[in-house]
Amino acid sequence: MKVTEETRPRYPAIGNNIALDFTNTVDWHASDRPQDRIGSYSDLIGWALQAGSLTREQATYLIDAQKVRPDEAATALETARGLREAIYRLVLAATTKRSPMATDLESLNRVLREGFLRLKVTAMQEAFGLQWADDDVLMRPLWPVAWAAAQLLTSLDLTRVKQCASVDGCGWLFLDRSKNLSRRWCDMRACGNTAKSRRHRKRQESEGGAGAT
Ligand SMILES: [Zn+2]
Repeated sequence: MKVTEETRPRYPAIGNNIALDFTNTVDWHASDRPQDRIGSYSDLIGWALQAGSLTREQATYLIDAQKVRPDEAATALETARGLREAIYRLVLAATTKRSPMATDLESLNRVLREGFLRLKVTAMQEAFGLQWADDDVLMRPLWPVAWAAAQLLTSLDLTRVKQCASVDGCGWLFLDRSKNLSRRWCDMRACGNTAKSRRHRKRQESEGGAGAT
């Protein structure tokens, strides 16, 4: 079965982690023809809304704000892409036991620092919670991503992070929550299915070949 746009969602939510899902907004990330699904600041907001890191009200506010501050939106978009690739490389470095690049750590830490300046403890119904200050900074969607990446990189969960086993360069990252660490694919309906069809075709070919001799 050929993988079509229908089987590859625009914003996949397969990573079990918001930082990993953010890196998965580049389709075919491990191939020589990666496709960026975040083409504009509005796309970034659309992704954050789907990921649940912005409320609809916050998203609407930021969409309106970017119209009057296009330069700030362009900077936020550029920073978002830089952060995304930095997280992608840092996670891959960890999973393949390579040294991380200092520039990638700095890209992450820069956004993390900015977000921390706006992190606050708020009173909830019967407890306290952590919230990002509700201001109109257009970098707002990046703070939860940087925070999630920092937590992942410094936790034991990092040993459960895998990259889709696709030989076509899918490249999507996910946290394997299966008991026996057996998950191999981003999604069985996408790359898992493609691999299954490929194995089936090969088997048929070899059986056909054997019958011909
Ligand atoms: Zn895949």
